[in-house]
Parts: sequence; structure tokens; C-alpha cells
Amino acid sequence: MSAPAPRPPRTARMPDFIGGATDPDGVLAALRLAVFGVGSVGRNIAIHLARLMPRELILVDPGHYKDESLLTQPIAPVDVGQPKATNTGALCREISPATEVISFQAGLQDVDRAILADCDYVFLSTDNLLAEVEAARVATALGRPLIQASVHGDSLTAQVRVFTNRDGEGSCLLCAFGSDEWRHLDVQTRFRCTPAEPVGTGAHVVGPATFSVSPLCAMAADMAVLQMLRMTLGLGGSVGDSLVEYNAYGSRTVVSGLRRNPDCPADHVVWHVMDAPRALDECSLAELARSAGVAPERQARAAVTVGAPSGTQRYFASALCRCGNPESVSRFAAGDPRPTVCSACGGVATPNRFESYDPVPLEVVHAVAERPLAGIVDTPATWVLVRDGDRATMFRDPASRGPTDDADD
Ligand SMILES: [Zn+2]
Ligand SMILES: [Zn+2]
Repeated sequence: MSAPAPRPPRTARMPDFIGGATDPDGVLAALRLAVFGVGSVGRNIAIHLARLMPRELILVDPGHYKDESLLTQPIAPVDVGQPKATNTGALCREISPATEVISFQAGLQDVDRAILADCDYVFLSTDNLLAEVEAARVATALGRPLIQASVHGDSLTAQVRVFTNRDGEGSCLLCAFGSDEWRHLDVQTRFRCTPAEPVGTGAHVVGPATFSVSPLCAMAADMAVLQMLRMTLGLGGSVGDSLVEYNAYGSRTVVSGLRRNPDCPADHVVWHVMDAPRALDECSLAELARSAGVAPERQARAAVTVGAPSGTQRYFASALCRCGNPESVSRFAAGDPRPTVCSACGGVATPNRFESYDPVPLEVVHAVAERPLAGIVDTPATWVLVRDGDRATMFRDPASRGPTDDADD
């Protein structure tokens, strides 16, 4: 493949924003952005973002473009049948060769949290409730602004919700979930957990088809990206937490505030993201708990979650053998753990799911809490979360990219 032709600089069409940031060019150049769902709304968002030429663009979608996608999505017939994430990623890369475009043809639950921890903004444009819940949890925990764009085709309404997720005190996406949403989610979750499609093996519930028209989908995307531009360049008044709703029947726009629901069942704790004291694989869980500032008398009660490139790892305490011997495992595994040889009869012992944990209290892992992580995980850990009551600290490998909270201070 030949090298792409040089692109014009961002400033060639940059307006002289009234009352905005002094260096909009520099601000946009530094942005790291993620888009979950690149269908009828999200592909428009991704293309807009590519034209801003940000530093990094992460695209996540498990789906493929279908014939019907031609009706609502900015694709050509040649794109039908292609994976949405990689196809959109290739287009964004062509528009902005200087941007690092990372495409995941996967569900959000399979994307490494350590990568998402660096994002400045997370866009959500999927009708899939499970993906919405996951996106809300990730954005709230990592303290990243979440911008959700959606459409209601029947009433020609485009909606954009902005959740700033600054401190866990504001509204999260799940604050507004009613009993209908929770009931649908329950159905989806049960469906997803059927034996034919076990969790964590690439099973994804595909959201309902979007019944809408192309301009309404584009409108929602346009509004979402404009809200991000306002926030990041300081244009106009404060944006979040807010809902902007455009109704085409009456050509009306309504803006309303989003409030925290005190009964929201979601965790609103914002994780403190920092580098591990040395290579993550060399650190022990006890050492990380100490680095997180967990008081010695509370260490046993603190809980840890060990991350993997795809999701999290489960701690297996023991395995059961047909001979009746309970075999110790004491390892973390993403998915099914390695088989264990029974020390009594030499047979294969099956890891005991009834003695497995995610997250796991440190008192349960005390036997291996002082050992380096490399010796107790099946898959190299990409991050570790230490949770002590309402305090949560996410450790990343110091060699991984991006500034941490510490570097920002
Ligand atoms: Zn909430
Ligand atoms: Zn045995």
C-alpha cells in the first residue's frame, strides 16, 4: 500500500470560535476518543471525529453492515458484509492518517479497560441495553465523560445525553433506567447466558434494528460531536449533565438537566488510575494494596479485580478430582482455568466454580497475596483494581501508554 497523500492542516478550515480555547488546534490534536457502536448514528460520529484529526480514535462494534444498513448508515454498497468497526476504522484512517485508529470488532466487555482509561470522551451509540450498561459502568468508573446519541424514528426525535462523570456525584446513564429497562436487561442477560453462547467467548446480544431515517441518525451524531466540541473548547455555557432533544415535527430543541437518582443501583465510585510501582507482573497483590493506601488493618477486607486484554480474570481457589481429593489451584484465569493435576491420584482435577471469585477479597487470596502476579495468573494482567470501601485504585503497567492521574496533577 502506498503512503497516504499529505492531508491539509486542521487549521485550514478551523473557525475563529467566539470565546473559546486559545489553542483549539492543539486541544483537538491531543484528544483521545472512543465510539461504542458504529452503526447508523455511531459511524457518523466516527467520521466527524476523524475530521477533527484527534490523536487517537477507538472504535468498538461486534456487528457487520447488512443490506438494510444502506437505508440509514453512511456506507456504500461495497461496504455491505464488512465488519463495522474495522470498515469504519479504515475510512477514518484514510481521512486522518496521523490519527492512531484502533478498531475492535468486539463487544465493549471484551475491550481492555487499561486502553479506555486514557480516553477524553466516550461516545455511545448503540440500541443494545447490555452495551449501554457496560458503557455507563466503564465511563463512570474511569471518570470519563460519556456522550450518548440516540434516535426515536417514529417521532423524528434525536437525543444526546452528556454525563460528565467528574466525581461520581452526578447522574449516570443508569440513574434514569426505569423498571422496563431493567426488565429488558434481565431478559437479555438470561439470553446471553444460554449454554450455546457462554459469556466471554465472543457472545454478544445484537441490539434491535434502528427504525429511523438517515438524516435523523446523522442529526443525533452531529449534536453529539458538537456537544463534545463545546465541552472541550469551552464554547458557550456548561454542557453537562444534560439532555438535548431535537424534534423534527415541531423543529423544536429542548435542553434539560440530568440529575443523580439517589436510588440508582449502579456503582458511582470513580477509580483513581495510577501506574503500578514497577512492572505489573512483578508486583504482588499485597504490594498493590499497600500502594493504594489501604491501611494494614483493612487489607484483608480489601478486594481486588485482575484485568485481562479481554475482560477480567477469576480467582479459582480449588479444583475437585473424581477421587475426592480437593486440590488447591490459587490462580487467576480469564475464561476456563488450566486443568490441574491431582496430587493424590494423578488424574485431572476440575476447577471448582463454587470456590471462584471476581472480585476476590484479599483474605481469600492470602496464600498467594505476596507472590508476583506473573506466577498466579494464566493470562498476563493488564490492570489491577484495588477496592477498599468507596475507594478504588486502578493500577496499570508503567510501560503502558498514556498519562495517569498522577501525571496530570
Ligand atoms: Zn446512576
Ligand atoms: Zn484425584
